[in-house]
Amino acid sequence: MQEFEAIQQFFKRPTTADLGIGDDAALVQVSAGHQLAISTDMSVADTHFFAELDAQDIGWKAMAVNVSDMAAMGALPKWATLAIAMPQLDPNWVQRFADGVFACAAQAGVQLIGGDTTRGPLNIAVTIMGELPIGQALRRDGAKVGDDIWLSGRLGQAALWLMDRQGVIALDAQARTYYARAMHRPQARWQLGLALRQIANSALDISDGLLADLTHLLEASNVGAVLDWRAIPKPNLHKNEIAEDTLQQAVLSGGDDYELCFTAPATQRARLSVLAAQLALPLTRIGQITAEMGLLVYDGNTRIHRPQKGYVHFA
Ligand code: ADP
Ligand code: MG
Repeated sequence: MQEFEAIQQFFKRPTTADLGIGDDAALVQVSAGHQLAISTDMSVADTHFFAELDAQDIGWKAMAVNVSDMAAMGALPKWATLAIAMPQLDPNWVQRFADGVFACAAQAGVQLIGGDTTRGPLNIAVTIMGELPIGQALRRDGAKVGDDIWLSGRLGQAALWLMDRQGVIALDAQARTYYARAMHRPQARWQLGLALRQIANSALDISDGLLADLTHLLEASNVGAVLDWRAIPKPNLHKNEIAEDTLQQAVLSGGDDYELCFTAPATQRARLSVLAAQLALPLTRIGQITAEMGLLVYDGNTRIHRPQKGYVHFA
């Protein structure tokens, strides 16, 4: 099978774009009064995922991490392009991969309008585009002193799966299956992102760990934060026993959760609890923005010291 056939067979599906896959560039129309939010996320085999995983999971996640960036900006996800390098063109693999990509895209209303297909070490780059009413983006630099810090969902499940896989901990089969889903099938919170435009002062998605990512938001906003360890929703441990410091590592510094962390004035609390019910998604207040720079985490009155913040690619 040739590259051209593969694109036609696996990646070309009907879209409402003015021009989709097949020409030298796609053409799209941006709604009046809106701006484009654009983001790219690359996934490299054996850095971001294990190449031997189910191709459907790889495809899902390559799209999901990009949808998550739209969520974090409060943008409505609309279009994506997909560049893939792979060592060989295995139709079964590409079919499963495309199924995963399109399943995630469909859930988020995203249309695949272009890309590139080439031979090389397995490597997937998706560029996503979404729409925002001009000036309404949820940015990292908008946090205000006194804001509540909120988190969607729970943290640490994907990290526990990875620790189990690396032999650092040993999960029972039930937990392993459950956390594998968190790792491989993240649910990008784009509906939440849309609702937060009217509510939040700042937001980001957590891909590299809560402390690492929240630090980016604090620095962009020139503020600090205090977090309450006990308030942070943690993995449902079922019957597994995990040491407290391992749990802290997973919850505070583990990556791959793709939950949203956002800040909002205290006046928005009631509205956010209504929103949580509407979305059937837990939204939890985990801390406060402070004038004093830095990020402190407290377990009751005791401060937790966490030197290791998150994954660093070029250490
Ligand atoms: P060109 O040589 O002009 O770059 P290609 O042969 O690479 O064109 O691509 C042909 C068409 O198929 C283009 O519209 C391109 O956007 C699309 N395409 C290529 N690879 C992919 C892919 N992996 N996913 C989606 N569309 C793709
Ligand atoms: Mg090309």
